[in-house]
Order: sequence, then structure tokens, then C-alpha cells
Amino acid sequence: MNDIQRELLDIVTQVRTHLEYRKALGVNSIEQLHAETASPTSVNAPYAANAQQTSAATGENISESVKPAESQSEGLGAVRAELGECTRCKLSRGRKTIVFGEGNPSAVLMFVGEGPGYEEDQQGRPFVGAAGQLLTDIIVKGMKLRREDVYICNIVKCRPPDNRNPEQDEIEACEPFLIRQFQAIKPKFIIALGNVAAKTLLKTKEGITSLRGRWHTYQGIPLMPTFHPAYLLRNPADKKLVWEDIKKVLAKMERVQKG
Ligand code: URA
Repeated sequence: MNDIQRELLDIVTQVRTHLEYRKALGVNSIEQLHAETASPTSVNAPYAANAQQTSAATGENISESVKPAESQSEGLGAVRAELGECTRCKLSRGRKTIVFGEGNPSAVLMFVGEGPGYEEDQQGRPFVGAAGQLLTDIIVKGMKLRREDVYICNIVKCRPPDNRNPEQDEIEACEPFLIRQFQAIKPKFIIALGNVAAKTLLKTKEGITSLRGRWHTYQGIPLMPTFHPAYLLRNPADKKLVWEDIKKVLAKMERVQKG
């Protein structure tokens, strides 16, 4: 492939990534995309736009025909199928296996980590290495839940080389699929594990040390950021802080369950 072909391929990949991102946010038609482009709005705006739009061609209200992605009942299988053997970003070149996520497809509680490590890449499952063992202990021994009751996934689905942090273009390439996982599962609570997950979901530059321990919301879903289990392996004294955060989650879950 020569330089021009590579550049063209890059442009096509970027356009495809952007369109998938908009689709995941509920932009399902060219008309909506035009409306979006004409007046750039926030991430939630496509839902509001859906509620009011009329078709320029027919004058009919298209809120019936163009459902916001949020209200579509797309299953996790469809999201996985569309991800396919993904090559949307450069992480695909170094991965062995895509780590999509696992657990209860209608989990009440969803954990989001950063990205697969070596063990996860080998097995195609999230959090199965040393940090994963600690996360499993938090779920099973701490929260008294089964690992298969919750859903566990990551911000990026392919292992970054040498376990470096995922880069912005990699996060953006994967984000539409994460958004659709949320839309399929519809969790009632989210726990963001570590800096990358918390900053990505909350669209903030604030670090995990100040974010953790307080409730935030992601697309209207209560989200508790806490330290990443890999950080806890290096800083075991901070396990007590994570336990404080987990207790807040358990208390809120109990309150909601009791109605
Ligand atoms: N760390 C993560 O963030 N995710 C995994 O799946 C494993 C380790």
C-alpha cells in the first residue's frame, strides 16, 4: 500500500468510526446527521432531536419511525456481531483476542475497566489476571454477588501494547460499542474502575482520586468511580477506600430494590 492509499484508508476509517459513534447516539438517518452537523449539540441531544423531528420530505413526525438508540432493544449479540473482527483502530494489530465483555446481559450492576491485559488478551475474557482476581473477590467476597450476576467490560476491547493507557483515537473507535453495550444491558448502576474508565465515561479531566467515592451519572445512570484493582495490587492500603465506595453502591442498590 502506498502513502496515498494509506491516507485514504485512514480517512475512510475515521469517517466510519464517526458515523458509528453518531449511530450509537441515536442518529439513524442521513437527515438526522445533517441536522446534527448544522447545529452541533451535546451527546444527549440526538434523543431530544428524535422527539421533535419531522421529516423534511414527508412532513410526518419521524419520532415514530426513527427510534432513538436508547429505546431500541438491540441485544448484546447484535453489538458483538457488528464489532466483528474489528480493525477500526491500531490496537487491532497487536491483539490476540477481542475482549468484548461478559456477564449477565441484563445486569443491574456493570463494571467498566480500562482495557485487556495479557491474560485477558489470551483468554478473550475481561479481568481474569491478577487484577481480575481482586475484582472477583470484591464482587464475590465483598458484595456477596456472583461474578456472573454482574456485567464486566472495558473502555477498549483490545489490549494496548505493554499495557499502556489506551489513546484517545482508540477510545473513540471503541466508544460506540461500549455505548451500545450500556443500551442493551440497561444497568441501574455503574462502577468505573480507575482513571481511564472514570474520565472517559464522565468526560472529565478530573482524576480518580478526586472523583472516587462520590456519585456521578452517566446517561442518567448512577455511576461510582473507584480505584482500579491493578492500582490496589500496588497500593493495598487503599483497599479500604474502595470498600467505602463499594458500600455506597450496595446501600443504593438496596434502597432501589426496596423501592
Ligand atoms: N485491567 C482492565 O482494565 N481490564 C481488564 O480486563 C483487565 C485488567
